[in-house]
Amino acid sequence: MTIDFAEILLARQRIAGRVLRTPQRNAVALSARLGVPVQIKCEHHQTTGSFKLRGATNAVLALDPAQRDAGVVAASTGNHGRALASAARSAGTRAVICMSRLVPANKVRAIEALGAEIHIVGNSQDDAQLEVDRLVSEAGLTQVPPFDHAEVIAGQGTLGLEMLEDAPRTTTVLVPLSGGGLLAGVALALRTLNPAIRIIGVTMERGAAMRASLDAGRPVAVEELPTLADSLGGGIGLENRHTFGMVRDLVDEVVLVSEADIAAAIRSAYFEEGEVLEGAAAVGIAALHTGKVTLTGPAVVLLSGKNIDMDLHRRIVSGETPDLAAERDHG
Ligand SMILES: *Cc1c(COP(=O)(O)O)cnc(C)c1O
Repeated sequence: MTIDFAEILLARQRIAGRVLRTPQRNAVALSARLGVPVQIKCEHHQTTGSFKLRGATNAVLALDPAQRDAGVVAASTGNHGRALASAARSAGTRAVICMSRLVPANKVRAIEALGAEIHIVGNSQDDAQLEVDRLVSEAGLTQVPPFDHAEVIAGQGTLGLEMLEDAPRTTTVLVPLSGGGLLAGVALALRTLNPAIRIIGVTMERGAAMRASLDAGRPVAVEELPTLADSLGGGIGLENRHTFGMVRDLVDEVVLVSEADIAAAIRSAYFEEGEVLEGAAAVGIAALHTGKVTLTGPAVVLLSGKNIDMDLHRRIVSGETPDLAAERDHG
């Protein structure tokens, strides 16, 4: 294990007052349906709309003064990009977010509005990453990756502390899973505080990179497919250093949910719990609704973000299950 529980406690002190301690509450409809108390940890209410602010803030505050003067850089256009821009601004540090020409204008503007400099280069994520590498080697910026990084994992782990403080008798926790920074950090916190707790990662059938890697016994690449859980897309990195081993050693089970399951969970979160969720955040509810996870005692479901295109959200709550792969291929 490369990361120690003490780093999560240190992260909590560092980020205190800079991120919200988000509410956790009883999910009335879900509890009634399942016959056991289920709480939702409403991390989608976090500043910037996702938990990624925790890890990014911890990583920025852990820089030494010279690194802080030079600034931070990343290639993410999604929740990590937003979080890093916001974390750097609140610490008074420069942030550069690199993206390709194909990134939609609204995403570019959202990150620019958070105070980051935008570098638009090339036509792919790989081209954007080359610009990150250039800024690291030529201008001395520090790259902050989205999940496979000790301070990022420790920052996300602060969620595990809060969940157990607010529901000490929890027996099962469900956490969305992609690269595994969130799950690794939360699992380290939970496992340390309660060795008997059941920890479940949930991801989508379309492109489940961590699950395929666990099955193979080593990090493997999977084909990336359009999904309603777009924040769960991408691989775990073939050179994975932290999250693969932590998820393998600390997590009980990784379950997969379908596009239809995700759409139904977004709908029920909206109509039954009054919450707007992006697809990635709805996978825990989906795993419970479908019976892919059954509960024998009190549970907490982590809701990880709310940054969904509102037109897409409107279509889903109107009853549609949009097939994003078909829409991409046929316009
Ligand atoms: C990034 C993200 C995840 C997955 O986090 P990992 O650390 O990559 O596993 C889940 N939900 C949302 C909303 C995210 O932005």
